[in-house]
Amino acid sequence: MITLPIKGQGGTYELHPVKIVCLGKNYAAHAKEFDSQIPSEPMFFCKTPTCLISDGQKIRMPKKEELGIERVDHEVELAVIIGKDCKDVAKAEAMEHVFGYTVFNDVTARDLQKRDIAKMWPWFRSKNLDTFGPVGPRVVLAGELDPRDLPLELKVNGVVKQRSNTREMIFPVPTLISFISKYMTLEEGDIIATGTPDGVGPIQAGDVVEATIEPIGTLRNLVE
Ligand code: MG
Repeated sequence: MITLPIKGQGGTYELHPVKIVCLGKNYAAHAKEFDSQIPSEPMFFCKTPTCLISDGQKIRMPKKEELGIERVDHEVELAVIIGKDCKDVAKAEAMEHVFGYTVFNDVTARDLQKRDIAKMWPWFRSKNLDTFGPVGPRVVLAGELDPRDLPLELKVNGVVKQRSNTREMIFPVPTLISFISKYMTLEEGDIIATGTPDGVGPIQAGDVVEATIEPIGTLRNLVE
């Protein structure tokens, strides 16, 4: 169980998602770096809670000889925590279902993902290895920040690799909640990872990965 401090409240929040719904290609510059078209509607997939680790825990590189994975990438993303169940919610009411926000690193076995895409297999396994979901370091409650204008940054060993702003999202948070809830119930505690900007790249054992979204803070994980 991962417990996050609630910023400015003195309390804590226990993460308990049934699912982590992740957006693919929700920043145009990131879609372009993979030669992908900008999606005409939100494209999403799921990560399972077994991938989650907290601030300060280690991202574990899979053994190449076991799984054939050689390239693992970082992806900084704004994470939305759902506060109230919703199904078929309208955009205008979507934000009433948000509990708060945190930082997520959608760690991805990129070479495995590409091999699976070539076979028309889902992205599932390349996204769901244990430790591939760092989350934290704290929660900022809904209403205490505007998710439409937040700077995102990711550093590897102190070098900036990703730098953008949530205003560059193709589909903003209310659109995402409304759209996903047409297909599946979003339950209290579920997490939506809203997609990564451009600049994704490899990490390796020994690296320190720092994903920052102000005013939430910096999520820091060592790779082993
Ligand atoms: Mg992602």
